[in-house]
Amino acid sequence: MKPARRLVAVSNRVGPLRGVAAAGGLAVGIVDALRESGGLWFGWSGRTVAAGRARLHREHADGMTVATLDLPQQDFERYYNNFSNGCLWPLLHFRIDLTQYHHADSDAYRHVNRRFAATLVRLLRPTDLVWVHDFHLIPLASELRRLGARQRIGFFLHTPFPPTEILSTLPHHEPLVRALFDYDLLGFQTDEDLNRFQDHVRRAARGSVRGATVGAFGREVRAGAFPIGIDVEQVHRFAFTRPGEQDFARMRAALAGRDQIIGVDRLDYSKGLLRRMAAYERYLEQHPESHGHVIYLQVAPVSRGQLKSYREFRHEVEAAKAQINGRFSRFDWTPVHYLNRALPRRTLAGLFRASRIALVTPVRDGMNLVAKEYVAAQDAEDPGVLVLSRFAGAARQMTDALIVNPFDGEETARALHHARQMPLAERRRRHERLMRGLVEYDVRRWRNEFITALADAPTGSGRRR
Ligand code: ADP
Repeated sequence: MKPARRLVAVSNRVGPLRGVAAAGGLAVGIVDALRESGGLWFGWSGRTVAAGRARLHREHADGMTVATLDLPQQDFERYYNNFSNGCLWPLLHFRIDLTQYHHADSDAYRHVNRRFAATLVRLLRPTDLVWVHDFHLIPLASELRRLGARQRIGFFLHTPFPPTEILSTLPHHEPLVRALFDYDLLGFQTDEDLNRFQDHVRRAARGSVRGATVGAFGREVRAGAFPIGIDVEQVHRFAFTRPGEQDFARMRAALAGRDQIIGVDRLDYSKGLLRRMAAYERYLEQHPESHGHVIYLQVAPVSRGQLKSYREFRHEVEAAKAQINGRFSRFDWTPVHYLNRALPRRTLAGLFRASRIALVTPVRDGMNLVAKEYVAAQDAEDPGVLVLSRFAGAARQMTDALIVNPFDGEETARALHHARQMPLAERRRRHERLMRGLVEYDVRRWRNEFITALADAPTGSGRRR
């Protein structure tokens, strides 16, 4: 039976209708719900076109609809590359040294949100539940409200929410915060992000917090922590069935008894790759007995290569890798293996399974799904060890990992040693507890809890304090 209310998901990137398993992440999380409710997924088409040539594309399959809009090249650059990725992303990850603010980009961000809203509003039905994803689309609800939308609209922030001192460095940050109050429900990854949002509202917007209700600018919104999970069963199946299992077997054979440490991240400065390399180098310095017996595989596809900060970061990572290999390699052993590309999710699951240790050490991360995927891909009889940064949202839940401060290279190196020495009984114990948490808070629960909270939120726009 279909639920009475249709779900409308809005995200900058729209996943594929078919082959959802290959896309992972958000797609896996919401596509089931879209199918069940005959839902609509709306966002950017992934295409940039000449001004005046933007079109709306619609596709139907499996009872759901995907509607996507093209963007003019210049809008795209300013809204997506410059403002979203060059300004908001570093700000939200506490990197104000990297934020690049230009008024024209900020205007384009608003303008694109307005265009999205103008198209979307025509596709909405009165009883729809609208779920907007991520920092590209913060003003979307305001723009929809301006056009008369009265539906319940929720927003989920996949990134961290920064402290008020950092947020307030953004010129014109207030309209952005005010725009959050046009939603009915705000979801954050962790209680810490929620706290920082509440703190900002109290201190910078002179607002109030009463339980789950946050008030400011003459309006009220519900706000809560909804930590995103994964499809645990799917990742495990990928690791234990073909072709992931074949990749596992090939990796195992290639390792020839060596322990593999794996890192899998987009090439992004928030992921802590340089500090991670330095910690591994320290480990090799301190543990000559490990030489020849341990390999660090870093899988890091290029991300946002149009931005200078990312290109520079890539060179730094490559230099760090080359330095370690130059310093420690033997003719029959290379300590760091580096793959600069995306891999199929099934292959990744196989590689996770073949790795004794995962090194997930972002300097700041909303959640970090790789940490969860690594644990789900393990063999419960002989599981590997997760070394996890305390600054990943996942650390709030995954307390049975070896939690490290990525700014402390000594500590990370010690954790690597600890992980390699860890007896089987302790590995099993930790893995069992981690799995219990993953299964309990999986992606379906995340989605259902958010949708239920949105449906139950006090109704509609125009709420006054
Ligand atoms: P972020 O959203 O910042 O990239 P997450 O760890 O939360 O970080 O999510 C990353 C997702 O992308 C995970 O599902 C992960 O499996 C996938 N991923 C990361 N690196 C690769 C890669 N090299 N090939 C394929 N998928 C990848």
